[in-house]
Amino acid sequence: MTNRILAKQNALGRPRAGIFDKCQQFTRAQELIEAGIYPYFHTVESAQEPEVICDGRPMIMMSSNNYLGLTSHPKVKEAAIDAVRRYGTGCAGSRFLNGTLAIHEELESRLAKFLRKDAAIVFPTGFQANLGAISALVGKHDLIVIDKMNHASIFDGCRLSFGQIRKFKHNDMEDLARILRDNMGKAALVVVDGVFSMEGDIADLPGIVELCQQYNAGLMVDDAHSIGVLGDHGRGTAEHFGLEADVDLIMGTYSKSLATIGGCLAADTDVIDYLKHHARSLIFSASLPPAPVAAALASLTIIEEEPERRDRLWRNASYLREGFVNLGFDIGVSETPIVPVVVGDEEKVLVTWRRLFDQGVFASPVLYPGVPPGMALIRTSCMATHTIEQLDLVLDVFERVGREMGLID
Ligand code: PMP
Repeated sequence: MTNRILAKQNALGRPRAGIFDKCQQFTRAQELIEAGIYPYFHTVESAQEPEVICDGRPMIMMSSNNYLGLTSHPKVKEAAIDAVRRYGTGCAGSRFLNGTLAIHEELESRLAKFLRKDAAIVFPTGFQANLGAISALVGKHDLIVIDKMNHASIFDGCRLSFGQIRKFKHNDMEDLARILRDNMGKAALVVVDGVFSMEGDIADLPGIVELCQQYNAGLMVDDAHSIGVLGDHGRGTAEHFGLEADVDLIMGTYSKSLATIGGCLAADTDVIDYLKHHARSLIFSASLPPAPVAAALASLTIIEEEPERRDRLWRNASYLREGFVNLGFDIGVSETPIVPVVVGDEEKVLVTWRRLFDQGVFASPVLYPGVPPGMALIRTSCMATHTIEQLDLVLDVFERVGREMGLID
């Protein structure tokens, strides 16, 4: 019946199967477009700089994960161009077979050294690194324990594994202890984001390490937002806490501080060797093209050679956080360059986003399931390359819009 009512033809006039009815029924995006508060897929017409051109006008970019501002660094761009000249645009195959280049191996040894592990493996994306690692490591009789606020790719990795999945309350050590205690005797892997991508807080690594050791659980940290950001040398969450020897597996992405795209896992040699031969998202997917490999290598060099970029990032992050707090905004538990402004109601977030956008600030609205229901927020993130004048402008716009929306007095 439903099929008959909804049946639609494809472009060549052939009736369409019922499986697609849900697509016709999905009207939310169109409704938001008509209401003028659709916030997604806006076209950016320039590079990911502190100022971008969007819809033909300049805006301050407060939504980018280009933390160190390296996506337009001349050395990073040159490295990518050189790699294309030498190796072409793609590898046309998996790492497993024809797709391993000398620069993949060079990046792996640089990453292993940088992250202070024995070995590393390059993935096409960070998402695939999480999928591959978790699904390969966590077998039928194993336990995986994750923070409720972890990234979607960790949740999806769990779905692909055959193990038992347990989630603990965000950064709550008592809850983690309870789960590990209740499941004693099982081979367990604990996985946390080092920096939580929406809240901007840092995992309680000392507490987590202690519990993992007490219950003999392995520990994997997703350092997507921590590499280049946390630690005296930008090596991430473990360095930040002085716990580099205590994290078994580090996952990283190049889509943030490393200014390109790609992912990696770093761990003991036997663990990486196992993953190289079992991670399906690596084996059955084409290898990362030469340009991003070279860009990631060049970015790593700059991270090592220009620590002042990290200093500027943290100066900007503190300035932005203090600015929001002084204006009376609720920034939740943020302690990093990711600074959310908590709004709560989804409709209100979308209207707030629109007003910010109209006044030249490009920020990200985050709704359920990106955050728990009722916790919708506007996510901002700063870059090392933002100027204080730009951040002042952003704070001015937030103040005006925040008052109009009743977010601040
Ligand atoms: N983990 C976290 C915490 C992330 O924020 C992201 C990307 N937003 C990923 C993993 C996936 O990384 P990639 O963009 O390289 O696929």
